[in-house]
Amino acid sequence: MNSIKLVKKMLLSIVVPVYNEEDNVEKFYEEVIKAIQTIDMDYEIIFVDDGSKDATPLMLSRLTQLDEHVRALILARNFGHQLAITCGMDHAQGDAVITMDGDLQHPPMMIPDLVKKWQEGYEVVQTIRLATDDANLLKRMTSKWYYKIINAISQVDIVPGGSDFRLIDRKVLETFMLFREHDRFIRGMMGDIGYKRTMIQFVAPPRYAGKSKFSPRKMLRFALDGITAYSTMPLRASLYVGLLSGLLSVLLIIHVLYCKLVGTAAPGWATTMIVVSLVGGLQLIFLGIIGEYIGRIFEEVKRRPLYWIRAELGHHRK
Ligand code: UDP
Ligand code: MG
Repeated sequence: MNSIKLVKKMLLSIVVPVYNEEDNVEKFYEEVIKAIQTIDMDYEIIFVDDGSKDATPLMLSRLTQLDEHVRALILARNFGHQLAITCGMDHAQGDAVITMDGDLQHPPMMIPDLVKKWQEGYEVVQTIRLATDDANLLKRMTSKWYYKIINAISQVDIVPGGSDFRLIDRKVLETFMLFREHDRFIRGMMGDIGYKRTMIQFVAPPRYAGKSKFSPRKMLRFALDGITAYSTMPLRASLYVGLLSGLLSVLLIIHVLYCKLVGTAAPGWATTMIVVSLVGGLQLIFLGIIGEYIGRIFEEVKRRPLYWIRAELGHHRK
């Protein structure tokens, strides 16, 4: 038993989604190699190119030729950060798997710290972003409030500042791979999945090069996914508000009837307008909420693959 362990070192997989990161991949690779020298593990670096339009795939192809530890999965188009991570995780062969961004905002120097926690027996090592040096006030505030709201209305515990920079054990990965929803919020899924967890804090430095790939539209979509995937509270809230406005309208009808009976029936234009616009507005809001859920149900029932791969570069172990 022991002799087998001696021949074959444990394998660490590092999964990196990249989208138009031509100015970052080389630097990222160098930093990871530096960090990994201190660990006594075999390793593979899996880049997932999320439909980049720049020279990123070319640079990845070069890296796979230079270093047999590097693999690259080139997706057929842009699937988004969460699905790119998922693709990399599905292909990881490691006993432990680290996911991290390729723009150096998740410091590669921390890799040995994550591995150390894993060796101590933790199965999920989650990092917590204390602050992002270059995030503007709006991003910081919206992020803070978003986590407050999502924790208040959903059943799972999502740590504020939780990022997708984490290490998971093979066991956790096997479980995670059974979760095949399209609209995914991996932070929430990891909170749901259990296992023995610990946290490490870090301060995210500014991006090494390039700009954030998250447009406000993508951020909003991601934020909504987090809520609809983990809470039906907005739907229930719509029922409560509906009941409340129903009750109010009963009171109003009584009032109107009373006025009619005592003969002081006013023209009533103002009341009518208020009620009509208020109730109309509420209905539109809640139709919208229901629509968000139905849209997501529609996406899931199509049962399409989560992503598809145009090319696979580099070697597999074994
Ligand atoms: N990314 C991706 N697909 C996307 C958007 C981003 O694979 O559609 C990658 C990106 O290349 C980076 C990581 O996900 O490695 C995080 O993205 P970014 O740095 O733009 O996000 P931010 O740090 O601004 O939240
Ligand atoms: Mg970033």
